[in-house]
Amino acid sequence: MENQVIALKEKGIAAEYLSSNQTSHAKNKIHEDLDSGKPSLRLLYVTPELIATPGFMSKLTKIYARGLLNLIAIDEAHCVSTWGHDFRPSYRKLSSLRNQLPDVPILALTATAAPKVQQDVIESLCLQNPLVLKSSFNRPNIYYEVRYKDLLDDAYADLSNLLKVTGDVCAIVYCLERTTCDDLSAHLSKTGISSAAYHAGLNNKVRTSVLDDWISSKIQVVVATVAFGMGIDRKDVRIVCHFNIPKSMEAFYQESGRAGRDQLPSKSLLYYGMDDRKKMEFILSNSEKKKLQSLRSEEGLSKKSLTDFIQMVEFCEGSGCRRKKILESFGEQVPASLCRKSCDACKHPNLVAKYLEELTTACAVRQKSSFSQIFISSSSDMIDGEQLSEFWNRDDDETRDSDEDISDYDGISPFC
Ligand SMILES: [Zn+2]
Repeated sequence: MENQVIALKEKGIAAEYLSSNQTSHAKNKIHEDLDSGKPSLRLLYVTPELIATPGFMSKLTKIYARGLLNLIAIDEAHCVSTWGHDFRPSYRKLSSLRNQLPDVPILALTATAAPKVQQDVIESLCLQNPLVLKSSFNRPNIYYEVRYKDLLDDAYADLSNLLKVTGDVCAIVYCLERTTCDDLSAHLSKTGISSAAYHAGLNNKVRTSVLDDWISSKIQVVVATVAFGMGIDRKDVRIVCHFNIPKSMEAFYQESGRAGRDQLPSKSLLYYGMDDRKKMEFILSNSEKKKLQSLRSEEGLSKKSLTDFIQMVEFCEGSGCRRKKILESFGEQVPASLCRKSCDACKHPNLVAKYLEELTTACAVRQKSSFSQIFISSSSDMIDGEQLSEFWNRDDDETRDSDEDISDYDGISPFC
């Protein structure tokens, strides 16, 4: 929220945000302005958690009664849906906005909603006959590529070579675990690449400084957990690398979509490894049902997560056009010719086919010789509970407001 408010203020728009990180003085000033006869504020960012409090809702209804509330915008609206990859229970409570503030237009925005998520968002927000505007999910300026860790001697070296060959470009590297962020960033720095790690295990001061340095181009590569990037608008990201397989196509699309927002040629690179796959399957089949058992049929959600993940595995292990697979997962039927050879499978079909054959052989050999060893290593090397909440990015209301919340994720902006 903070970054967006800064950007709006630079454009001369009277914007503010309310968050637990602010001083009471700053908050009081905003409240005084809202209570005044003629508020100077035009745009206010708040969290879904704040909307859910009776005190703030009563404030909104008063502003509404005075005819000053013109629009409510809900950003990252897929978070409303239990079928969205970033589902947050507090977003569910936004359904009260429609009843409490009738006649105020509600605008729901998302870049990653599959058809069933779209329908769920409409129903959950009680939108009545909404006008639905959609554009294609295709990002023609992003080249998609998968590299196979099991066929590489050293994935760290492979990535650092790629970054060096590409030049001093802006990049985000996503890892599943904080330790990988630290290790990989240290490796990149050692090889002369300007890089820093970013995750919830670092203190606020370090994170702010990394973020500032990256936004101002002092650092070119940030190696981060999934919490990084939401709401951050740097348009010249040339490479988004997933060093571990993401949990769903929606998550992959959203994260890889942070590349090339200036429409210039950019790259999405995913390192796929069998150990990563097993680790993710373990997390999805065990941890999620624990986390979400109070919300819905745990079996249903767990199965849903695994089905979503299988789509991601097929993206990596299948031989067809990667772009077509992404678009089909969002309900778009397109010919493979749409890709124009801007994925590795279309540009180098023979090479990708060779890699996939080698991968099958490598897996068969490993399964025969060390099945138990793989299982033990993937389950005992499990990430801890704290890291897991960062991975899910869907903490409950209490933790969402804590200092550990680094997702920069807050997305409700009532215009007044
Ligand atoms: Zn293709």
